[in-house]
Amino acid sequence: MAEGAPQSPAHSERVDVAANLAAVKERIAAACVRAGRPRDSVTLIAVTKTFGPERILPALEAGHRTFGENRVQEAEAKWPPLKERFPDVALHLIGPLQTNKAKVAVALFDAIHTVDRAKLARVLAKEMEAQGRRIPCYVEVNTGEEAQKHGVFPQDADALIRECRDDLGLPLAGLMCIPPLDEEPSLHFALLHKIAERNGLSGLSMGMSGDYEIAVEFGATAVRVGSAIFGARG
Ligand SMILES: *Cc1c(COP(=O)(O)O)cnc(C)c1O
Repeated sequence: MAEGAPQSPAHSERVDVAANLAAVKERIAAACVRAGRPRDSVTLIAVTKTFGPERILPALEAGHRTFGENRVQEAEAKWPPLKERFPDVALHLIGPLQTNKAKVAVALFDAIHTVDRAKLARVLAKEMEAQGRRIPCYVEVNTGEEAQKHGVFPQDADALIRECRDDLGLPLAGLMCIPPLDEEPSLHFALLHKIAERNGLSGLSMGMSGDYEIAVEFGATAVRVGSAIFGARG
C-alpha cells in the first residue's frame, strides 16, 4: 500500500498480534491446568478471516501454524502465497461450505469443521477419494436450534454422524458448535460433549474469543479464536 494511503479503521488500529497470541496460549494452558488436562490436548486455531497478510505474518513469525478461515474464496486468495513461505501451515475451514466449492475446499484446507448435511458429506467423500486426500472433518451441530444458523439439530446428529462415518467412510474427527450469542455457552459445550461421547467421537471444536477458556474446561480439543488475537474485525 502506498505511503499515506487511507486505511480502514480495523487495519490502522495498533494490534500486537504476537503478544495477544502469547496471552491466549497462556490462558489456554491455565484452563488446561484447571481442567486437569494435558496442554497438548487443545489446538488453538487462529481465525484470520477478514485480515490481510500484514496482520497474519506476526503470528506466523511467532511460530504459530494452525489457522482458520470461514470463506473458501477468501482463503483461496490469501493463503497460497503464505503457505509457500510457511509450508507447514494447517488451514481449517470453519465457515459454511457449498457443495460446488467442495473440490477447492478439499484441495486447500487441512480440516473441515462444517459438515452439516448428508449431501455435503457425500460430495466431500467423493472429492477426497478423487484427490486422494483424506482430511479430518467435524459435524457441525446447531446446539441452539437457531433457524438462521447452520448445523444439524441435536436430535438429528447421531444419524448424520453414522452416515458420514459408517456409510461414507469420511474421516470424522469430531463435532463443532457455535453457541447462541445470548445464552450461557457452557450448556451448549456440555451438550456437544454428550453427543460426541455417545457416538465415540473425541474431537470437540468449540470456543471462540469470548468463551474459549470455558470451552477448554468443557473438553474442547480445538478452540477457534480470532479477535482476541488479531483485533476487532472491520
Ligand atoms: C469468526 C469465527 C470465530 C472466531 O470468532 P472470534 O469471536 O473473533 O474469536 C470462530 N468460529 C467461527 C465459526 C467463526 O466464524
